[in-house]
Amino acid sequence: MAENGDMDHLAAISLGSNLSPRRETLALALELLDEHRFVRVTAVSGYIETEPVLVGSDDDAVGPEDQPNYYNAAALIETTLAPQELLAVMQNIEGRLGRCRETEIRFGPRTCDLDLILFDDCILNTPILTLPHPRMAEREFVLRPLAEIAPKLRDPITGKTIAQLLKAL
Ligand code: ADP
Ligand code: MG
Repeated sequence: MAENGDMDHLAAISLGSNLSPRRETLALALELLDEHRFVRVTAVSGYIETEPVLVGSDDDAVGPEDQPNYYNAAALIETTLAPQELLAVMQNIEGRLGRCRETEIRFGPRTCDLDLILFDDCILNTPILTLPHPRMAEREFVLRPLAEIAPKLRDPITGKTIAQLLKAL
């Protein structure tokens, strides 16, 4: 558990796994996040099973077919870290859970995918981090679990709540 002190930022993250053991992987990712001394996991959604999304919003975002289904979840995090630092912690955990970006296929199967969805009211567009997550509004597997634990959280760009975005899908 993180130590006491001001965990002054609130972040929402999305978790996904479609390589066995999927549920255990998500649980372990959350445990590893919470173990970080500057990160506290304060809410976790239920796990949902979803079919892989084969076509994304950009033209080249086509994933291979015949992938196993995903398990997805969302979590709320309190942290003292900056957004880029939190992303680095998340990517380190992906690596520890067996994800290898060098060998994997884009949008192909992965043991663990951790995405930063919202970080306070941050709007950011850098090569390594875009906030809010650019595809959150179109992804039911992001919005549905997140709406369970944080329906009133707002997209700082549109001002819409997670519940409103989910309803608009
Ligand atoms: P995806 O999550 O879209 O399936 P990856 O997990 O492979 O794909 O992420 C690709 C890149 O996206 C990462 O190298 C990361 O730097 C970048 N990225 C940009 N914004 C975000 C964000 N909000 N959350 C997670 N990764 C992000
Ligand atoms: Mg990702």
